[in-house]
Amino acid sequence: MGITRTPLIAGNWKMNLDHLQAVAFVQKLHWALKDAKHQDGSVEVAVFPPFTDIRSVQTLIDADKIPFALGAQDVSAHDSGAYTGEVSGAFLAKLDAKYVIIGHSERREYHAESDDVVAGKVQAALKHGLVPVICVGETAEDLEKFGASAVPAGQLEAALKGVPASADIVVAYEPVWAIGSGQAATPQQAQDVCAALRGVLAKSLDEDAAARTRVLYGGSVKAANIASFMREPDVDGALVGGASLVVDDFAAIIRFE
Ligand code: PGA
Repeated sequence: MGITRTPLIAGNWKMNLDHLQAVAFVQKLHWALKDAKHQDGSVEVAVFPPFTDIRSVQTLIDADKIPFALGAQDVSAHDSGAYTGEVSGAFLAKLDAKYVIIGHSERREYHAESDDVVAGKVQAALKHGLVPVICVGETAEDLEKFGASAVPAGQLEAALKGVPASADIVVAYEPVWAIGSGQAATPQQAQDVCAALRGVLAKSLDEDAAARTRVLYGGSVKAANIASFMREPDVDGALVGGASLVVDDFAAIIRFE
């Protein structure tokens, strides 16, 4: 015990902001957070721009020493070769990306990403030194049929196949019904499922991995509800969609108390 997990506030921009808008956004956000606590490392901030923005954002972060980590929204399961349209983890690592979102429900739904595809991408991320942010979550239908944690726990177990206990990973619990709906889970619901997911980490990896790994909540997180999630013992941060696109809103989320 005694392991403290640094909270992670992650902005998933999805298919929003071109590279010029992204650069302006990061500059404004950095300015809005001049005296915020992430400056001393007590909270980690990460942004996940579209692929076409990553180089520009990386250059800005690097030149101005902006304390934001950079991530991508997806990665190929392959290293290189004849895979039109895909982006290798090796290329992302070259751009100093630290994180990559894998298995977001929008990829599972619109790109038919199965648990096996997700597991392959997790392996690819780890191979290239990226930290996978493994997204899991139940639909409204799953919730009614199986309760809240069964589907996300199963998805996490599948994604962890072949992952060594020492791996650096992040888990994001994102109930599909809460994403973009304005209807977030209650803090208690988030806590219950995040605790269950920590149980999966203990079983599939080991106790140390379970204690060390950050489990985030995502789904309609906003400035008004972030503090209530962060008070839960098994919620170590948030994966934020819509509210990460508005400077003042995202800054307020990062400043949660
Ligand atoms: P939302 O999206 O904050 O807009 O609900 C969260 C996500 O999809 O990561």
